[in-house]
Amino acid sequence: SVPAAVAAGLSTGARHGLLMKGGAVMETAAKTSLVAFDKTGTLTEGRPQITDLLPLNGTEAELLATAAAVETGSSHPLAQAIVARAEARGIAVPQSTSATAIPGCGARAEIDGEIWNVGAPRLANETGVLSAADSATAHRLESAGKTVVAVFTPERLLGLMALRDEPRADAAEAVSALKQMGISSVMLTGDNPVTARAIADGLGIEARAGLLPEDKVTAVRDLARDAHVMMVGDGINDAPALATAHIGIAMGSGTHVALETADGALLRDRVTDVVEQIRLARATMANIR
Ligand code: ADP
Ligand code: MG
Repeated sequence: SVPAAVAAGLSTGARHGLLMKGGAVMETAAKTSLVAFDKTGTLTEGRPQITDLLPLNGTEAELLATAAAVETGSSHPLAQAIVARAEARGIAVPQSTSATAIPGCGARAEIDGEIWNVGAPRLANETGVLSAADSATAHRLESAGKTVVAVFTPERLLGLMALRDEPRADAAEAVSALKQMGISSVMLTGDNPVTARAIADGLGIEARAGLLPEDKVTAVRDLARDAHVMMVGDGINDAPALATAHIGIAMGSGTHVALETADGALLRDRVTDVVEQIRLARATMANIR
């Protein structure tokens, strides 16, 4: 049976939205030496906003309309931001068909018999529609911590847009508190290395970027060779990485989906609750030793 101290620790945590699935999880949490954070929706708000619209041919409205047509139906946060902005501006969005996701890269759909792509500039680079000047523009925006999205057919680039997903207000504080406890932090993201670096530098954290979901699993496995790894993510597309870490914690509103694959959850959408959870686990385990 679970010792009384552990039971008390688990229920103290639960009262504050710090859930752990039992005493074994608490014991593991207490040993955490490295926290791997997913970026989008965990260290950041997960609600990117369009900051720049750069049409190269045509108007801002045409750029938004085409991008929104491709992204309609996608649940990706970037897609939702683009569709929401088109709606807010009352732009008529053309019909699209055969919309598909390009995992870790973007989305694609057919509009009026033409194939349109909305995604990372590197995708546009592959088809050669991005000029050196366009690449330089993209790089400048990425250095400001923005994610750049290109809107293009295999023949031409319609324009670029940039979106910024703000770090959560307490993310830097959480990273620094963990450091004081002797715990290092790493940010894992599918975003490009330049954007990732800009965000990570602001938080004082190391970053591993350009990761597909399966790469996040490999990254966690790699980190777990030398450390006791707690992985914190939204739990929706991070479930395999959460399962790979010594302990997987789901954070935020999507948590009811995630709790099945996670060892615990943080219900209050605060990054500093990662610190609170490890403190609670350490204090509890110290009590029974
Ligand atoms: P993460 O969840 O870590 O941010 P994703 O794998 O969801 O990473 O996306 C990685 C990158 O692929 C994004 O930063 C973006 O550049 C691009 N991308 C993915 N999906 C879309 C989409 N629907 N629209 C535009 N860009 C996308
Ligand atoms: Mg994601």
